Amino acid sequence: MSYENLSGNWNYPNNIRTGEGRVSELAACVKELGMSSPLLVTDPGLASLPMVQDTIDLCINSGLSCGLFSQIKSNPNGENIRDGVAAYHAGNHDGIIAFGGGSGLDAGKAIALMVGQDRPLWDFEDIGDNFLRVNEAGVAPIIAIPTTAGTGSEVGRASVITDEQAHVKRIIFHPKMLPSIVILDPNLTIGLPSHITAATGMDALSHNLEALCSPFYHPLAEGIAIEGARLVKDYLPRAVKDGSDIEARTQMLVASMMGATAFQKGLGAMHALAHPLGALYDAHHGLLNAILMPYVLQANREVIEERIVRLARYMDLEDCSFDGFLNWVLEMRSLLKIPHSLSQINIDTQQQTLVATMATEDPSAGGNPIKFTTDQYQQIFINAVKGEL
Ligand SMILES: [Zn+2]
Repeated sequence: MSYENLSGNWNYPNNIRTGEGRVSELAACVKELGMSSPLLVTDPGLASLPMVQDTIDLCINSGLSCGLFSQIKSNPNGENIRDGVAAYHAGNHDGIIAFGGGSGLDAGKAIALMVGQDRPLWDFEDIGDNFLRVNEAGVAPIIAIPTTAGTGSEVGRASVITDEQAHVKRIIFHPKMLPSIVILDPNLTIGLPSHITAATGMDALSHNLEALCSPFYHPLAEGIAIEGARLVKDYLPRAVKDGSDIEARTQMLVASMMGATAFQKGLGAMHALAHPLGALYDAHHGLLNAILMPYVLQANREVIEERIVRLARYMDLEDCSFDGFLNWVLEMRSLLKIPHSLSQINIDTQQQTLVATMATEDPSAGGNPIKFTTDQYQQIFINAVKGEL
């Protein structure tokens, strides 16, 4: 069964407007949230594209003013957030448009949090009750507009920010970091190069998979995760093959949003390893998850087999066994030209002890169905470096 058109207004988990061309509603969204001078936060690569100026013009042509802040790294750090807060105050802005891939969205959300706080950013790291320290009235309203389909940060209440002094990625969390309005417009993703489409799409798959396999009781999230994974199976190869396939681009934006909605249930060892590797080697987050995926699935096999078989049936794979699913992951990866081992992206085993220790301590480790020891993380990492499945 196909849909008449891929357009929708959803209020779950937040206010989402999906469909081709819907970024044209931006000025109305800005006004709806009571902003008159938002600051658009994005990364420097996107800022140089006409798409960003066109988006700013949507505001300006409606009688609003709109600033631009783009001095952020691909893994945004604490300094980037401080600079963004300074730009927000210097321009007298009253809200944030978080625009871009994971870096633009996460930086925008963290800046929105920090514009009205007296404490330093790291005081709001997602540990215990730290979020209660936030002055809620000081959090700026957020509109999120993703231009990649992977992170799903537009439906998340947290940002991943690199602590440049400690060389770790920290999760900054507050419920008010959930954007008030999300625009999912596939036109904004059609220019994405195929290798980024592939890597970010595999990140979306890893979110759906890890959420599904996390051991906590949350059937709602599991329902979302299996359909999210199916959308990746059906549409990611199409989006990579033909970047202007609007149906595939729309469905991947939705699969990405679903992955992040589902991972309220937890992530797992793919992310527990991808976070330290991203911080230590500045490698692409989605690419890391894509490479790590089969090694982690294999390591979790004894506890996730039944669930994966059920997923494989739902996804209508030819071989619905665990091995059939694993083979599908491997075929998908090679179809998308994702490397099979970490050594192919110049990561070796030199820092294996540090990587394993950081993985054990990563917040995502808590959602893995097996509580891996440092030695077990080290072994998974070595396998992924060498390509030994
Ligand atoms: Zn991820």
